[in-house]
Amino acid sequence: MSRPVILAVDDDPQVLAAVTRDLRTKYAEHYQIVTASSGAEALDAATEIASRGRTVALLLADQRMPSMTGTEFLLEAQIVFPEAKRILLTAYADTDAAIQAINDVGLDQYLMKPWTPPEDKLYPVLDDALDDWEANAEKPFEGVRVFGTTWSPTTFEIKAFLARNEVPYLFIDIDRDVAGAATAAAASEGSPQLPIVLLEDNTVFVAPTKSTLAEAVGIHTAAESPFYDLIIIGGGPAGLAGAVYGASEGLATAMIEREAPGGQAGTSSRIENYLGFPKGISGSDLARRATAQATRLGAELITAAEVAAVDTTGPLKKVTLKDETTLNCRSLIIASGMTAKRLSVPGYEQFEGAGVYYGAAATEAATYKDRPVYVIGGANSAGQAAVMFSKTSSRVTMIVRAGDLGQKMSAYLVDQIGSIDNIEVLTSTSVVEVTGTDRVETIVLEDRESGERETREASALFIFVGAEPHSDFLVGTVGMSAKGFIYTGSDVRAFTDTWTLDRDPLPLETSVPGVFAAGDVREGAVRRVASAVGEGSIAVSFVHRYLDTV
Ligand SMILES: Cc1cc2nc3c(=O)[nH]c(=O)nc-3n(C[C@H](O)[C@H](O)[C@H](O)COP(=O)(O)OP(=O)(O)OC[C@H]3O[C@@H](n4cnc5c(N)ncnc54)[C@H](O)[C@@H]3O)c2cc1C
Repeated sequence: MSRPVILAVDDDPQVLAAVTRDLRTKYAEHYQIVTASSGAEALDAATEIASRGRTVALLLADQRMPSMTGTEFLLEAQIVFPEAKRILLTAYADTDAAIQAINDVGLDQYLMKPWTPPEDKLYPVLDDALDDWEANAEKPFEGVRVFGTTWSPTTFEIKAFLARNEVPYLFIDIDRDVAGAATAAAASEGSPQLPIVLLEDNTVFVAPTKSTLAEAVGIHTAAESPFYDLIIIGGGPAGLAGAVYGASEGLATAMIEREAPGGQAGTSSRIENYLGFPKGISGSDLARRATAQATRLGAELITAAEVAAVDTTGPLKKVTLKDETTLNCRSLIIASGMTAKRLSVPGYEQFEGAGVYYGAAATEAATYKDRPVYVIGGANSAGQAAVMFSKTSSRVTMIVRAGDLGQKMSAYLVDQIGSIDNIEVLTSTSVVEVTGTDRVETIVLEDRESGERETREASALFIFVGAEPHSDFLVGTVGMSAKGFIYTGSDVRAFTDTWTLDRDPLPLETSVPGVFAAGDVREGAVRRVASAVGEGSIAVSFVHRYLDTV
């Protein structure tokens, strides 16, 4: 650990030499002694120390300096190091200034020159100040530091990336932390881009990409081998399950994940309905356990690596990563999941997870028991959620953009909703704003025909406006629905005409033999953790069946 600094400033070379000598004699073992011959030079030194992520324990300044007095220096320096102890060196005639400084700069002590012998007149005062500093000061964090602002999306992304990959880091909000802002500005040479990331050895990254950062912090980002029996694309529950079963059943298995293991489930604060966890389990915990299990069983987990293309035309299947690395394999499981479509309404992003939920109806139902909820959307998923909430919540209000609920919803569901007393349906209506302090408190509704607006109290909005599968990199390779969900098993022959073998596609097999799909990316998937895990594991048994045929 680097030593804290004692920073001393005096414009008189003789006095400075004496201060330096006495400080070194007593404190050099535990503190770095830095000296300067003017206030400006000392402030530069303070900024430099901050930029290297180090801290100052004690500031010692002579009051009588021509360009900047000791008090003026301490005033400026305490902005950078507010916790540093402040001591003024004074001559007898400066006593009044020193007493004044006690109020002005929160001076801890003043010392009269000369201070000989230091054992009597200097060290007791400094010891006292340093003991106090040691007891109270926050020690510098030794690790990855992320400098940014709370509301900067790029900062949020990097923080989430590090957290989800289990890399401990310290976040410094540069809007609130002046020393932090100085450190970030010095390290990035004033770049306005965020975040600034400093590693333990003070390597600086300005707005780094995830893959650059991943490599720098030691996340496994590159494949160890050019060839595998099985490559799994995606590290959500389906991919992780595939990795556990593939590796444990003797297949040379690699799982490629572009973000962090866990997938959508990894972002869930509590999964209540996964078998074997009666108190529920957080998504990050489940991801951590599954990652450890897959690794222990011998799967290679390649993280922060994105699959850009898949080529299945040759005898081996080729997987090309975004950085143009190519890997070959005998079989593939696509477990790339999906993302709920996001809406850009003011407040939605801010309150996501704090009253705004995308599709997480079942998991949040208990939270909103006996309370009113809003369901946004007019298709079947929204209708099913409204029916489900009507059983537990006091009132359900459906907000539907279309003029008629029947436009996108099955007739049976429209009838069912019509027969439930505590469901209110507002058609031709949109939510145009959500407000609150730390959670949703009100929503503003707009009548799409008249433009009239109404503000209502609200605590929860469940949004069902569709999902986007992660299957762009497979377009033209495997058969998929118009929305991009991948056909498997009997759907392949029913909905595509590209299957060429005599045998039927195996369950979970796509229109390309030996390429399987599991989890949410699959057309018809149940979209639950348990079903993704189930599909990921059974896909491996069909991989064996396929490999036996080639
Ligand atoms: C907030 C939230 C809470 C939920 N809570 C519950 C719950 O309590 N109970 C429940 O049963 N279900 C819950 N679900 C649903 C559940 O999480 C999903 O059904 C499940 O995660 C699907 O798993 P998956 O492996 O198929 O896909 P995903 O979890 O979507 O994982 C797919 C992974 O593939 C990666 N990927 C995508 N494209 C590429 C590429 N080109 N290259 C490399 N990697 C790629 C993604 O980064 C992602 O990590 C919740 C979902 C959300 C969003």
